[in-house]
Amino acid sequence: RNTAEKFEFQAEVSRLMDIIINSLYSNKDIFLRELISNASDALDKIRFLALTDKEVLGEGDTAKLEIQIKLDKEKKILSIRDRGIGMTKEDLIKNLGTIAKSGTSAFVEKMQTSGDLNLIGQFGVGFYSVYLVADYVEVISKHNDDKQYVWESKADGAFAISEDTWNEPLGRGTEIRLHLRDEAGEYLEEVKLKDLVKKYSEFINFPISIWASKEVDVEVPADEDESTDDETTESSEEEKEDEETEKDEDEEAEKKPKTKKVKETTYEWELLNDVKAIWLRNPKEVTEEEYTKFYHSLAKDFGDEKPLSWSHFTAEGDVEFKAVLFVPPKAPHDLYESYYNSNKSNLKLYVRRVFISDEFDELLPKYLNFLMGLIDSDTLPLNVSREMLQQHSSLKTIKKKLIRKALDMIRKIAEEDPDESNDKQKKDVENSSDDEKRGQYTKFWNEFGKSIKLGIIEDATNRNRLAKLLRFESTKSDGKLTSLDQYISRMRQGQKDIFYITGTSKEQLEKSPFLERLKKKNYEVIFFTDPVDEYLMQYLMDYEDKKFQNVSKEGLKLEKDSKVKELKESFKDLTKWWKGVLASDNVDDVKISNRLDNTPCVVVTSKYGWSANMERIMQSQTL
Ligand code: ADP
Ligand code: MG
Repeated sequence: RNTAEKFEFQAEVSRLMDIIINSLYSNKDIFLRELISNASDALDKIRFLALTDKEVLGEGDTAKLEIQIKLDKEKKILSIRDRGIGMTKEDLIKNLGTIAKSGTSAFVEKMQTSGDLNLIGQFGVGFYSVYLVADYVEVISKHNDDKQYVWESKADGAFAISEDTWNEPLGRGTEIRLHLRDEAGEYLEEVKLKDLVKKYSEFINFPISIWASKEVDVEVPADEDESTDDETTESSEEEKEDEETEKDEDEEAEKKPKTKKVKETTYEWELLNDVKAIWLRNPKEVTEEEYTKFYHSLAKDFGDEKPLSWSHFTAEGDVEFKAVLFVPPKAPHDLYESYYNSNKSNLKLYVRRVFISDEFDELLPKYLNFLMGLIDSDTLPLNVSREMLQQHSSLKTIKKKLIRKALDMIRKIAEEDPDESNDKQKKDVENSSDDEKRGQYTKFWNEFGKSIKLGIIEDATNRNRLAKLLRFESTKSDGKLTSLDQYISRMRQGQKDIFYITGTSKEQLEKSPFLERLKKKNYEVIFFTDPVDEYLMQYLMDYEDKKFQNVSKEGLKLEKDSKVKELKESFKDLTKWWKGVLASDNVDDVKISNRLDNTPCVVVTSKYGWSANMERIMQSQTL
């Protein structure tokens, strides 16, 4: 087209498209749910704007918030159309090609190693999955603030934009036309598309319909009667009525049939989904499978892994809301990458069924950002701006309740995991549901343990609850994870403190001279080997009235040893001499100690100073 403006895809986007086009990935179905998900996002956006300005919705069909799928078998075109917010010319240029999102390169990288294309939606580049099935794509879009434009590309490194002067006006919204590749013919089958929508887009909160063909029986005048004028002009409806009133004349009719039945194909919009939101249903009536599917749609993760746990509840009282929270089976790829400067939460906020935002960092503390889910509140005001909502006093109450529920849900993973149980008897009772829960907490811990630690650091109010969720290895844990409660249950009589040591690895720590005596005396010592543990222990001072003692620090108290007093006395001169020899800048004191067994001496750090491990961490950070 003459008026088309040409643009080049941003380099990373171009690479991404190459990967998709050349992909041997067999599950090409995913493109449809990505398109439907985009359509749904666009509808959410216009519905949100309409809260404060009804006018934006327009009139007639334009105001219908829906998604429609149409097939053109002859031209091999599949189109998906929404009446969402639409895209301006500038939006089309930016969103579909020239601005690479942070996820673009992350996804490209992932695909080059062991990536699963299925995860494309999580990286924010789902749109490009259209090139799994199409070799030419048109995006027709109309935004309230602009004219109607067409974006088109054959995925050859460039795309074109033209003002749309030839297609039917959309009113508002977007239509994506996929010119299907020869080998993607199955997506021209209605049955296939219906199945896919049902499978993947069950939880979309807007009606999705397909322009479906239907074979209907129509009665047409029988051949013999074709010559008679008055009968051929009769409409079939009138004939039906005739037939009913003439029932008693059946015999006559049989002798000389006036009409015959033939099959005719008609088209009509067939609704494919039930838009009743799952979170509004009674939790007792929602099946495990439904929750799993709902999780997959929220997470844009369509693997077959189940969420580790979920919690569906209604909060009552001053602030009323319904919520569904999930613990994902895996941490998202960028969970800790930009922990402190990103507000990325995975919690969607709805107010009275209307989607408001998924960027509300007031709903959950950062350390719980790994949770997926949504809340729907009837208490929050509907027609105010996002910014004003952000200040609303109810949010504090909601946040408090959500944290409680989230921590309960995590605690339950541990409680239901037979591997976690202290109770031998319970372990012996094998049943299938037990088996399913077996090892789940270790899985949770491996994926999200760091979040729990960050929680202990950040959330003083829930510190104790979070400390209960802590897991670690110790001198007695036998290569497995253990908890503080379990540690306490194994404490020696008379032992007051919880002992721990920090370092780079368990292997290194096991050889530490600091453990010699403790091991010999049968004291259990916790190994903390993650750099974050050093920070953690600055905040976690005690647990269940027991203090934590770093065994490489001053202050270690073991049981009273009468010999020490004697030794102190007889080596008084020697310790004094040593103190004089070692520069006082570096060494505070020289003492006789009962913490060693074979090693003649160790350097111990002061109680309130950094541990040697902390020094190492700080040094590596400044380098
Ligand atoms: P994501 O949906 O994660 O943002 P996509 O690659 O699926 O990533 O889509 C890229 C962007 O293109 C969207 O963020 C949106 O701005 C725009 N877009 C895609 N489809 C539509 C649509 N049907 N209506 C309006 N905007 C859309
Ligand atoms: Mg998308």
